[in-house]
Amino acid sequence: MKYSPNNPILLTSSLHVDEARKAIAQLVNELIAESNAIGDASDTEIVSLDQAINRILAEDLLSPIDVPAADNSAMDGYAFNGQCLGTDDATVSLKIMGTAFAGKPYEGKINPGECLKIMTGAVMPAGCDTVIPQEFTSAQTETHIEFPQNQLKPGENRRLRGEDLQQGKPAISAGRLLRPSDLGLAASLGIASLKVKRKLKVAILSSGDELRSLGQTLDAGSIYDSNRHSLTGLLNRLNLEIIDCGIVRDDPASLKNAFIDAATKADVLISSGGVSVGEADFTKQIMQELGDVGFWKIAMRPGRPMAFGVFKPIAGKLPARKTLFFGLPGNPVAVMVTFYQFVRSALLQLNGANQTEPPITQAISEAPIRKKAGRTEFQRAILGRNADGRPTVRLTGSQGAGILRSMSEANCFVILAHDQGNIAAGDWVDIALFDGLL
Ligand code: AMP
Ligand code: MG
Repeated sequence: MKYSPNNPILLTSSLHVDEARKAIAQLVNELIAESNAIGDASDTEIVSLDQAINRILAEDLLSPIDVPAADNSAMDGYAFNGQCLGTDDATVSLKIMGTAFAGKPYEGKINPGECLKIMTGAVMPAGCDTVIPQEFTSAQTETHIEFPQNQLKPGENRRLRGEDLQQGKPAISAGRLLRPSDLGLAASLGIASLKVKRKLKVAILSSGDELRSLGQTLDAGSIYDSNRHSLTGLLNRLNLEIIDCGIVRDDPASLKNAFIDAATKADVLISSGGVSVGEADFTKQIMQELGDVGFWKIAMRPGRPMAFGVFKPIAGKLPARKTLFFGLPGNPVAVMVTFYQFVRSALLQLNGANQTEPPITQAISEAPIRKKAGRTEFQRAILGRNADGRPTVRLTGSQGAGILRSMSEANCFVILAHDQGNIAAGDWVDIALFDGLL
């Protein structure tokens, strides 16, 4: 479906989460396609390996070397020529000629009837293709080892040169969200820095007259602004540049100024609050002046109202390009759920990641869960194990959209699909682990 803020399908009272995701992905694609839409978002920079965590790799990383660089032993044992092996249990006796250590190769050649004591990772000496692990020998003296000739096959326990990576082939593909293992892999190739996509600039702001920043005193009816802090945590997981635009009061002039300010500084603006029925009207009016923004009622819980679209480039203000906008609901849990479900993937996509969807797995529900068909639900839960060792999941108490404790105590979402009805105890349900994401 074509994204358009005015598309009546997108404005129905119950937009399926999958439709919303599709519409977002489509708009992000359009932004990427418009060459100057996100300014220099396609720009890259070179950063040292240890700075590259959670950044997006900008080009295929080609291996400059074979890994391993030489055939080597996979075990502590004895290296020999596998020609002496056979199919019956006749005894092989080999003379020990010396020792090869990792990092200290044996220079000589091993002849038939001879072997070399070898440590894991040590280069295979000339004349050898097989390693018998120490514990597989039937007899050992200072000078000789013995074992049955059918104990192993020629070539066993040897790692071949280039087995992991071949010189000139991609070791990591462009678009990878770099993880600790990728940094280790690059280091194993002798690579000290990586070309990554530049950091997206993401502005965040909270809207609401009732909100107070940390350090301010709470007067009657006011509450602390928690959303900017959970959003900061969520964005920090993605190693982005965060621009904190603070709290904005519920009046059209302040909101408009704040949006213009954020739009001139950032690639993406994420606001929370001010999109629910009572408040959306004047937000809508501002959005119509500044850009192309749709107000959605999404068939999900929590997180029903959401605004999404782009701000047009603002004349005379730099940088002159569109800014992606997410107007998240104000409720603290709804902010985290809508970020997880919509924003995270969009940010990764905009920044060139090739894998943007968080993984989903399954667990057995310990208890019945009430669920109304016709909306996707994200219940907060704790993943554990039952007596059989199978994964089980139980909800964390009260599931109100404002109850952050339900998120804080949880380690996963139970995701109940749009058409799904009530869940019985013992049913398998979809879950998404927070670890690394939320
Ligand atoms: P709204 O979407 O503006 O109607 O807000 C919905 C609920 O979320 C209200 O109870 C707000 O007080 C609360 N809320 C909105 N923004 C924040 C915030 N930044 N931190 C904590 N609670 C908020
Ligand atoms: Mg509000």
